[in-house]
Amino acid sequence: MKFNSADHIQDLQYFGEFGGVNPSISDSSTYTFLSAKTMFDTFEGNADGCYLYSRHSSPSNLYLGAALAAMEGTETANVAASGMGAITAVLLQLCRAGDHVISSRTIYGGTYAFLKNFTPRLQIETTFVDITRLDIVEAAITEDTKVLYCESVSNPLLEVADMRGLSHLAKKYNLQLVVDNTFSPLSIAPAQLGADIVIHSLTKFINGSSDTVGGVVCGTQKFIDQLRNVNDGASMLLGSTMDSLRASSVLKNLRTLHIRMKQHSRNALYLAKKFESDGLKTVYPGLKSHPSHVLFKSMMHPEYGFGGMLTIDVGNLENANQLMELMQHRNLGYLAVSLGFYKTLFSAPRSSTSSEIPEKEQIEMGLSDGLIRFSIGLDNNIERTYEMMKTCMLEVGILSQAGTEV
Ligand SMILES: *Cc1c(COP(=O)(O)O)cnc(C)c1O
Repeated sequence: MKFNSADHIQDLQYFGEFGGVNPSISDSSTYTFLSAKTMFDTFEGNADGCYLYSRHSSPSNLYLGAALAAMEGTETANVAASGMGAITAVLLQLCRAGDHVISSRTIYGGTYAFLKNFTPRLQIETTFVDITRLDIVEAAITEDTKVLYCESVSNPLLEVADMRGLSHLAKKYNLQLVVDNTFSPLSIAPAQLGADIVIHSLTKFINGSSDTVGGVVCGTQKFIDQLRNVNDGASMLLGSTMDSLRASSVLKNLRTLHIRMKQHSRNALYLAKKFESDGLKTVYPGLKSHPSHVLFKSMMHPEYGFGGMLTIDVGNLENANQLMELMQHRNLGYLAVSLGFYKTLFSAPRSSTSSEIPEKEQIEMGLSDGLIRFSIGLDNNIERTYEMMKTCMLEVGILSQAGTEV
């Protein structure tokens, strides 16, 4: 694939107010005008380069948006105060009462809860489907369907969406294909594969330091203008605005994303292979045993690997909890939700991040009690980490001395 998002980020050039190599941080909520006429034009969105009020836009947020648009290869982007701030604004902008959404059934718990419990109050209905089955997706389309929603790599089951196939369906039925690419920045570029709108929770890999929440919507200038419209734009009116100070901080972290993703992926692949050969039920898109391994390969930018997320199934919640507590005790990572940190993070999604999903549906989608989701860290010596993790597994009794699952 020719498109290399990291190069596009590198190619951006910034000069701060005093010639600094970083753009200056805009430390104002409101902006002055020399002429009243220009103020009116700015409010109407007709004065390029002028700022009115920081919920509308601010220089720092525009810099970060431009870098993320360069990364996804879209015309432009709009940052938000959180991933959910980006997701909810997009769905409410695209749908009105009577409209229908088709969504993958394995998505982030918050997004699931929004579509399942919140949008029906606005008469927006959602059908949840197995996104890996294009025939099922197509059969769910009605004349009211407006949006196809999925995650490129799903949370927490690591199912992979066939972006080209979904985009083909979206074009055929005139739908908007909206993709949450939080799990696979740089390795997959959904807009290059036909997605109309790409969303990220910046909270995870992109910021990478677990010190803030943030989100972004990448899309066409036309759609982003709609989101920002002062009269009926969801981003503008719902008010999920990122602070300038945070925007500048996320931008600085974004610049090392390509190096971090390579290390996350390298470490995750190493552990996934080891865990699998030890006899643990391991899910990682980089393993040949993953049902969408070949599909992922056909979409990915190989340099950045298969990402930092993997799951193992240790049979039951008690095993999972014991193992996670022991691994934390040995300083192999933190028992915490979220992902994309320098340390490994692990949690049992069924009782945490996916607890919004009713039990019956959890079972249907294969979300079992003993599932542990790992966000693999940037460990310099992953061989040592593996040996220490294996010792924990032996002590908890998940592996026997022979190295096979008991
Ligand atoms: C965390 C996450 C979100 C929500 O993002 P916030 O920044 O927590 O609002 C959405 N989608 C995915 C895949 C996530 O992991």
